[in-house]
Amino acid sequence: MAKNESYSIKLNLYNGKNPFELNKFYSISFDTNKINLSTKQTDKLVEQFYKEMNIKRKDELMDDLFLTLIHKQFPNFPANTLFVQDIEKIDLDLKLSYDYNKIALGDNLMGFLNLDFYKFEDFFKFFCTFIFMYFIKISKKQLNKIFKGFDENIIYIDSKRPTHIVEKSLLKECAKQLYESEKYYLIEKQKLFRNFVDYIFNNNKEKRLSKLTNSQRFYIFQNISEEIQNFANNYICDYTLGFWFNDPTFKSNILNKIKETLSDPLSNENFLIENMLKNDPDGKKIIGHKYSFETNNLFTYFYIILYHITLNNVEYIKKCQVCGKYFFSDKNNTLYCNGKYSKDITCKEYGKKTSQKRKENEEPVYGKYRQIYAKKAMMVKRNPDIEYYKTNYEKWKKEARQFINDIKFGKKTYDEFNKWLDENI
Ligand SMILES: [Zn+2]
Repeated sequence: MAKNESYSIKLNLYNGKNPFELNKFYSISFDTNKINLSTKQTDKLVEQFYKEMNIKRKDELMDDLFLTLIHKQFPNFPANTLFVQDIEKIDLDLKLSYDYNKIALGDNLMGFLNLDFYKFEDFFKFFCTFIFMYFIKISKKQLNKIFKGFDENIIYIDSKRPTHIVEKSLLKECAKQLYESEKYYLIEKQKLFRNFVDYIFNNNKEKRLSKLTNSQRFYIFQNISEEIQNFANNYICDYTLGFWFNDPTFKSNILNKIKETLSDPLSNENFLIENMLKNDPDGKKIIGHKYSFETNNLFTYFYIILYHITLNNVEYIKKCQVCGKYFFSDKNNTLYCNGKYSKDITCKEYGKKTSQKRKENEEPVYGKYRQIYAKKAMMVKRNPDIEYYKTNYEKWKKEARQFINDIKFGKKTYDEFNKWLDENI
């Protein structure tokens, strides 16, 4: 049994705009076969595509192409336990696996950042997903139960391997025994990574960091944090040389060509030249190298992921100013996540509403300005036939706006504005 063997994380960046990771370690996840297409069914569908389109060549790219189409039609329920609110409410079995797993780059890291280790339920999600970390700490008796029959199944290759279900109660029992002793270690590591992420993406809007790039901030944090430095070197790296072109338009062109001609366009030189020139005229979408990493340390894995997210510079890990959750955004200055703040309002809507209020609380002169503004507007409304109120209001409004603009650009201060407000009532 390879329980104490190093687990490996493969990280492939086929496309900078659509990065994903391929990882492999012992993990407990939901058995989604009941609700998602099974591997068998998926394989069948892929097979069908090859047949219908009369394609003889079978390779990774073709498989991937067909799988994208299939998943678009039948979206999957996530198997990863990190992404559900409450494991108890999900009526699915838990399974043990040791297979390559393709996920969007950083999904596991994001799940980790958002856990609340003060709650056992959240520790349990972590324990399941990263169970390999705990094999040396689980009693032999319990471990044998978890692995019972797993070895026999290891002879099957990927898709034909039977699902290895593990009793939820057994897993919970193991996690409960470990919770108190593991909790604070995880809280501390999570804090370190939250600080690292906040630093790189300047989530706390620190002025002294605002003119630096994400990579520069990564570099600085790495240098000043000894703990990060220790994680940063704890891996073996290997890479495969080769070029990858996984552009979505290219993919759909291949498909159309197949439908049209019933032949394999990937061995058609003219088709390839035409597509390269059209979909990638400056050659930026073709990606070289396929890195693979091996490490025994989960936090080194998170470090590698975070490094690649920063390097890619297409997605940023932001912290929602309303609910405090970490989320991916394609803009570095996003403030609010897309989640629900309450039943009928999202964080985004709530955030926009309260930012006005916050401004008033932080700057009393601004609040005073809003008050006078409202009063003047009311006077105009109540006295539509008195021209004076209207002209005075319009003039005042214009000048006040100019004042606020000047404050924004540092030309004037709130003190001066305060004086002006008193003089111009
Ligand atoms: Zn939020």
